[in-house]
Amino acid sequence: MLDFLSGLRRTDMCGALRASNAGQKAVLMGWVNRRRDLGNLIFVDVRDRSGVTQVVFNKERDVAIHGKASTLRNEYVIAVIGTVKRRDDATINRSLPTGEIELVADELRILNDSKQPPFLPGDSALPHEEMRLKYRYLDLRRDALQHNIELRHDVALAIRNHLSAQGFFEIETPFMTRSTPEGARDYLVPSRVQPGTFYALPQSPQLFKQILMISGFDKYFQIVRCFRDEDLRADRQPEFTQIDLEMSYPQPETVWEVVEGFLTAAFRVAGFEINTPFPRITYDDAIRLYGSDKPDMRLPAMTDVREAFAAGDLEKLGVNAALPLLAIRIPNVGKLSRKERDENKELFGVQTLELSLLDMDRLEKSLPQAAAHLKGMCSAKPDDLVALVGARQPSDFKATAAGLCKTAGAYRLRLADKYRERHGVFKRSGDPAQDFRFLWVSDFPMFEYDEDARRWNPAHHPFTSPHDNDMDKLESDPGAVRALAYDVVLNGTELGSGSIRIHRQDIQRKIFHALGMTEDEARARFGFFLEALEYGTPPHGGIALGLDRIVMIIAGAESLREVIPFPKTARAVDLMVDAPTPVSAAQLKELGIQVQK
Ligand code: ASP
Repeated sequence: MLDFLSGLRRTDMCGALRASNAGQKAVLMGWVNRRRDLGNLIFVDVRDRSGVTQVVFNKERDVAIHGKASTLRNEYVIAVIGTVKRRDDATINRSLPTGEIELVADELRILNDSKQPPFLPGDSALPHEEMRLKYRYLDLRRDALQHNIELRHDVALAIRNHLSAQGFFEIETPFMTRSTPEGARDYLVPSRVQPGTFYALPQSPQLFKQILMISGFDKYFQIVRCFRDEDLRADRQPEFTQIDLEMSYPQPETVWEVVEGFLTAAFRVAGFEINTPFPRITYDDAIRLYGSDKPDMRLPAMTDVREAFAAGDLEKLGVNAALPLLAIRIPNVGKLSRKERDENKELFGVQTLELSLLDMDRLEKSLPQAAAHLKGMCSAKPDDLVALVGARQPSDFKATAAGLCKTAGAYRLRLADKYRERHGVFKRSGDPAQDFRFLWVSDFPMFEYDEDARRWNPAHHPFTSPHDNDMDKLESDPGAVRALAYDVVLNGTELGSGSIRIHRQDIQRKIFHALGMTEDEARARFGFFLEALEYGTPPHGGIALGLDRIVMIIAGAESLREVIPFPKTARAVDLMVDAPTPVSAAQLKELGIQVQK
C-alpha cells in the first residue's frame, strides 16, 4: 500500500481552525509537534506551516486509534480526520490562535515516520548555529524561520507588484557573463567548450541594465541574485539578492521616489506605515554631523561646540581650535561611575597624537561656564552623556576635519551600543516613524585615493556620472569631484546605492582617463559596453537595494542567515550540501584545469 493518501484530501490548515469551525469535519496533515500521553487520553499537537492544532485520541471512544496514536513520535508525518470541538472553558489555551478548539480524531494515518531529530522545531533553546545549518530543513520548520521566509515572500511580492504597476518590467539578465565593475572579486565558471576561458558570475547586473536602457526598455527592475567573492563579515553573504532597477531620463529624485514607493509597499505588508519622502543629506553634511556616510538618525547628531569657549580657552586645553570640537550626546545614560568613565576612555581607543577625548568632568570644574554653554548647544538634558572629541595642538599634525568627524562618529556608535539598554532608542517603540529612520545620502565623492597604488579609484563604479558643476575638476582636483551617486540608509545601515550614469562616450573616456585607465585597458574590460554607448544612449540612472537586509530589518532579525533560506557560513560554506567540494580528476581534465596542491 503505497498510496498513503488514497481517498484523502487535506481540507484545513492546522493554524486556521477557530471556535466557529466547531462541529465541522476536518482533515489535517502535518508533523507531530508534541505528544502528551495521559493514559486514556493522548494529545498530539499537529503542525503545518500555518501553526498547530491539538488533536485528542480518546481510548473510550476508540481503542484502536488510541493504540495507534501511542506509537507516534516527534516529527512523524500524519493525517488526521476528525471533528472540531470547542474546548471546555477551563482548558482553553489563550496563547494559541487555535487554543479555543481541538480536533477529536476519528481516523489516523501515519504517512511517514521520522528518526529522532538532532533538535526539535518546537525547542525553545536554539541549538548551535552549525547544527542548524547542517540540518537546515529541520531548522526551517521552526516558527521563526517559517515566519521570516513567508515575510520575505510577501515583501518581494509587494515590491514586484508595486514596480509593475509603475510600468517597470522585470527582465532577466545572464548569470554566466563576464567580469562586471562592482570592484569585488569574481566567482568564475570555467568553460568546457573553450578551455582556459571563464565566465564570471555577475556582481550585479550593472552593465546589462544600462544596456537595457540603450535597448529602449525605459524602466527595468529585477529581484536578482548577485555574487561577490569578498571576505565575509557577519552581515555579508557571497550570494545575495538585490532589488535592482534602472530608468531612462531620471533626476536623482525620480529614482528616490520610486524607491520610497516600493519600500512603503514592502513595509506595509509587514504592518508598518512609513513616512515619505525620506529626509535628505549630502555626504559632506553626513560626515560633519554624524561622522558616517550611513548615519543612524535614531541618535542625536554631533555638535561643533567651539563657540562655547572664550578666546584662548581651547589653546589652554591643548585643543586645536582650527578643527571642530565635537560634542557627542547619548540620551538618558544617567550618572556614570568613575570606573565607567575610565572604560569609556578605553572605548575611545588609543588616543592618537592627533585626536583626543576631553574629560567632561574636569571641564565642568575648570570651565563651568563653557561646559554649561556647550551642553546647551547640544540640547543635553541632565541625564545625557556628553563626550567631547577634538584635535590636539600643535596644528601641524595631520588631523583633518573629516578624519576627526569619522573617529568621533565611530565612537558615538560604540557608546550608543554600550548604553543601548539605558537609552532604549534601538528598541522598537511601535511608532514606525521612530523605529525606521530612513535617509538619502547624496553627492558622494567621485573618487577615492588609494595610497598604496598611488592612484584614484572610483568610489562607486566607473559608470557613475560626476556632477555637472565639477566636470572641470576631473583633471585638476579629482578629490573634490562629487558624483551623482546616492545611498538609501535605514537606522545606520546602507540599504542600497545607486547613481545617475554617464551616457556619453566622450565623458566616459575622460573618467577612464582620470582613473588612470588607458583607452586600451578600458576597451579590453568594457569594450562591448563602450561601443553600445555610441549608439544613441538615453540619459539614465538607477539603484540597487539589498532584499536580504530589508527583510532582516523588518523581521527584527539579528543576522542575514535568519532570512535567507539556505545561507552560507562566514567561511562561505554551505553546511547542508557540503559545498564547496573538490571535483573529480575527469571533470578537471575536461575543463583543462590543473589544481595546484
Ligand atoms: N550596481 C550597483 C551596486 O550593486 C548599484 C547601482 O549603481 O545601481 O552597488
